[in-house]
Amino acid sequence: MTSQHRMPALFFGHGSPMNALERNRYTDAWRAVTASMPAPRAVLVVSAHWYVRGSRVTAQARPTTIHDFGNFPRALHAFDYPAPGDPALAARVRDLLAPTDVALDEAWGLDHGTWSVLTHLFERADVPVVQLSLDGRIGLADHFAIASRLEPLRDEGVLIVGTGNVVHNLHTMRYGDGMPAYDWATRFEERVTAAAVAGDAAPLLDLAGPDAASSVPTIEHYLPLLYAFAQRRTATTVLTSGIESASISMLSLRFD
Ligand code: ZN
Repeated sequence: MTSQHRMPALFFGHGSPMNALERNRYTDAWRAVTASMPAPRAVLVVSAHWYVRGSRVTAQARPTTIHDFGNFPRALHAFDYPAPGDPALAARVRDLLAPTDVALDEAWGLDHGTWSVLTHLFERADVPVVQLSLDGRIGLADHFAIASRLEPLRDEGVLIVGTGNVVHNLHTMRYGDGMPAYDWATRFEERVTAAAVAGDAAPLLDLAGPDAASSVPTIEHYLPLLYAFAQRRTATTVLTSGIESASISMLSLRFD
């Protein structure tokens, strides 16, 4: 059934893949967000973990669960998220993004950036899911322009979700509970939060300075934020925040 309501857009700092199996203050907040919004007819996800040459959308009726990581417990490698696909939505996304060339993809599925979050939002995996890739050949402003063309989906009952981490430095991570965050990580998370809450795109499209260089050493975990933020018209809500393992931001945001 098509929703009669305008859907919000969401960005999740997905953090460790283990969040799929765990219950913690982040996953509890993710679970709470679905209760506060209309039920979507489908979800369009932009994941940090599908960063490729070109724009692609998953077009299978039955996307597979991809385990795109190593060295995690057996239960995570066995995790299944059997949500259906939505080939009609995939075609709709391709049409909306024209003249950008978008390929209908049969090879990818749902990666862990997607299912580690969606299992908390839609535990029964009964809402169809389509993923849109991140084109690694284009810059921030081009991503933002593509993201902006997705807005009509909000009135078609489609929940747009970005999943990444605005601070994502694997080389500086410090393992263990309660590891203090680097000052640059905290400052950069605050900088992104302030711009997102103010609805100010310019600072989000400018990654100048040493804090950004340390927080965003590679762009793929940052870009999904832009796909959710581009849908913002009236308000930003902070769902979760904070730095885990010293250099991974768990900032999650809702945009209305
Ligand atoms: Zn990730």
